[in-house]
Amino acid sequence: MTTPELVRDPAAWQARALSDRAAGRALALVPTMGFLHDGHLSLLREARRRVGPGGVVLASIFVNPTQFGPNEDLAAYPRDLEGDLRRCAEAGVSRVLAPEPEAMFPAGHQTWVEVREVSQGLCGARRPGHFRGVATVVAKLFLLSQPHLAFFGEKDYQQLQVLRAMVRDLGFPVEIVGMPIVREPDGLARSSRNSYLSPEERTRALSLSRALFEAREAAAGGQRDAATLVALARAALEAGGVRPDYVELVHPETLRPVARAEPGSVLLLAGFAGKTRLIDNLRLP
Ligand code: AMP
Repeated sequence: MTTPELVRDPAAWQARALSDRAAGRALALVPTMGFLHDGHLSLLREARRRVGPGGVVLASIFVNPTQFGPNEDLAAYPRDLEGDLRRCAEAGVSRVLAPEPEAMFPAGHQTWVEVREVSQGLCGARRPGHFRGVATVVAKLFLLSQPHLAFFGEKDYQQLQVLRAMVRDLGFPVEIVGMPIVREPDGLARSSRNSYLSPEERTRALSLSRALFEAREAAAGGQRDAATLVALARAALEAGGVRPDYVELVHPETLRPVARAEPGSVLLLAGFAGKTRLIDNLRLP
């Protein structure tokens, strides 16, 4: 288990990637905001598995300021670079890019990537500018890292669809790999933001996954009406002490609300456990 090389300078990182690519090596990229947990590890391990021992696994750790709104948790976002490097070593990461914000967005930066339709609803409606920040930084990370493969979690389902649309529309030569949500044994989706939760809020937060599982059971039992499924999930959130931000049943690619649950429809929700906003989702049977 060797500690991956830590690179701070985006230009040096890109030079290494270009020479790896010219040498015919397979490159996989896993973009993260750090404070790595088992969800991130599943992406990193799969990246290593896909490129094989001769390939290059690149991880970025960057708390991207452009995807946070003015009243969001940018300053409070948890960080642990030393622990992250240890976890990256366990997962077989080759190099880690951890740039300063000024290195990624120097003074004078004025170019943005906007993915219109799939960014509109859900988290996009509640977090104006969020997906513009995500798409821009990921486009930049793709150009800096030159990956053949890039790994993203279904935990951030809308983000995954935004990035798939971006890659399709702009013709990035990269395959996007979506990975299933990794959960705690009791159902809570792993998230760096879970570290904000008090023990009492942690218990409340369980109602996010519980709401999804209850809706899935109802759907499996024949309930196909979207309004009924959404109301059921919303009631489960409220009963568990989570204030719903949104609950929607949508088409898996367009993310437009559907009136009836079809195989593959995705139930997405966001809610507040105390001050902490959490998201989760589930594909219905
Ligand atoms: P983040 O550090 O929160 O920006 O997440 C980095 C990547 O890890 C994103 O592609 C996330 O979707 C993914 N990810 C975060 N949590 C999980 C999870 N519980 N299961 C699977 N993937 C996850």
